Amino acid sequence: MKTEDLKDYIASIENYPKPGIIFRDITPLMGNGEAYKFATDQLVDYAKDKQVDVIVGPEARGFIIGCPMAYAMGVGFAPVRKPGKLPREVIEVTYDLEYGQDSLTIHKDAIKPGQRVLIVDDLLATGGTIEATIKLVHALGGEVVGAAFLLELVELNGRAKLGDIDTKVLLEY
Ligand code: IMP
Repeated sequence: MKTEDLKDYIASIENYPKPGIIFRDITPLMGNGEAYKFATDQLVDYAKDKQVDVIVGPEARGFIIGCPMAYAMGVGFAPVRKPGKLPREVIEVTYDLEYGQDSLTIHKDAIKPGQRVLIVDDLLATGGTIEATIKLVHALGGEVVGAAFLLELVELNGRAKLGDIDTKVLLEY
């Protein structure tokens, strides 16, 4: 399999969840063992020389990509979740959406100061989600050593929010 072949396993749904939006659905990729393993292996390969201590991924699809990577790399995974979902003491950041605001949280003890953190999500769009995730990691004293995504919606320029953080994307749309 080649990286570009993974596009065969991304479904594009027009006018979902709103008119004018094309939603890129990764569930066919997850549903195919060969494609899911290949994509995971590609991202693990990117991260293997980064001396990652912990992977951090936002709910829910960040878990789908980040957890098999953490397993393969033998490192921990820390979930970033919507408010009210994590049971112990959290820190929270609020970020802007196209209309309104949203918040994300992480357990206060999920990252120890100085730990090397890889941030993972399924898809980079405007970058708002990942910017908030980076802020959470920095607030806990973690060092973001890289960011990895299956897909990037290039014209939304989420890369700008990543600054000079080393970034890996498998598929561009
Ligand atoms: P951003 O914050 O605008 O970069 O949006 C990225 C977040 O929204 C990610 O956590 C994605 O899971 C989700 N997302 C946005 N657009 C899509 C899409 O077309 N397919 C799947 N997820 C999407």
